[in-house]
Amino acid sequence: MPPAPAPAPRLRADVTALPRYVPGRAAPSDLVDKLSSNENPYPPLPSVLAALREDLGRVNRYPDPASSELVTRLSKALAVPPDHLVAGTGSLGVTRDLLRAAAGEGDEVLFAWRSFEAYPLLVWATGATPVQIPLREERHDLQAMADAVTDRTRLIFVCNPNNPTGTAVHRAELEDFLDRVPARVLVVLDEAYREFVDDPGIPDGIACYRDRPNVAVLRTFSKAYGLARLRVGYAVAHPPVAAALRACTVPFGVSGPAQAAARASLDAQPELLHRVSTLVAERTRVTRALRATGFHVPDSQANFLWLRLGTRTPAFAAACEAAGVMVRPFGDEGARITIGTPDQNDRLLKTAADWQA
Ligand code: PMP
Repeated sequence: MPPAPAPAPRLRADVTALPRYVPGRAAPSDLVDKLSSNENPYPPLPSVLAALREDLGRVNRYPDPASSELVTRLSKALAVPPDHLVAGTGSLGVTRDLLRAAAGEGDEVLFAWRSFEAYPLLVWATGATPVQIPLREERHDLQAMADAVTDRTRLIFVCNPNNPTGTAVHRAELEDFLDRVPARVLVVLDEAYREFVDDPGIPDGIACYRDRPNVAVLRTFSKAYGLARLRVGYAVAHPPVAAALRACTVPFGVSGPAQAAARASLDAQPELLHRVSTLVAERTRVTRALRATGFHVPDSQANFLWLRLGTRTPAFAAACEAAGVMVRPFGDEGARITIGTPDQNDRLLKTAADWQA
């Protein structure tokens, strides 16, 4: 008789049914321009590499679980008290922990759609229900989002600038929205791309959170600071929220090398922000060139652009890939193009122009 199959471990049914995060595909070779994951195209600075190397010699020891030195440095740089800061494994890790701190079964979490593709997955994983409010002309519809708040709403994401459209909400509309949202609902301003903002009308989340206990801000070292592979980001929140977040955070999550590189990046801020300004200038150039070729491109305040190509999206992505440029298609909706080095952007522009012709 064949042996009876071993009983499978019992898992949460709602979790086994969850959709999975679909990351941008790995580039098939170094020859491909990977403009699909909103990464920084520039390699780490020598000073950051030196800090990493130094810390690697201590990997037999656990890291500081509270990332204390990094927190002290950020506290000074942002002029916020240290107990308002919580570092985590990328802003994705912090997002997951914030959700766990605020929402569970029966609760609702609101966000715009389309927005960062991890939001619905992370919300489902907490057992809460995602409520998606369609963008209006590629922008957050903050009126509709405020109207959608119910007694069950626990948390609202405002992704500013929004991934994948690059559009950003302005100060007055954000403040009106925050005035309308009940104080019992946590509003999370996801500012993963904040350093790329050059429009003075876009509010700085840190200024918005100061006198609003229900507002938290997320930032990351992955994008402007170019440390995506090291996984370090942080939240700025008032003490009750920050304390709940810490309680949900995996101890020792942020590795020693990640903490060291983040600190070294703060030391090298002028050089890194100079790179950011190069990318912002390229964003303007690429936007103009794409518009001149006939593409509709919303104004972006991030390090990527959005083309709503509808059913032409897969063909555009395939044409780019055939030309050695990877962009990020989202089904039949549109494609997101990360701003790269000037050479990479030139190749993208040529490919896009040839495809449009
Ligand atoms: N928020 C937004 C809006 C993002 O686009 C991303 C990365 N794609 C993240 C958060 C997560 O970034 P990380 O975990 O690398 O800090």
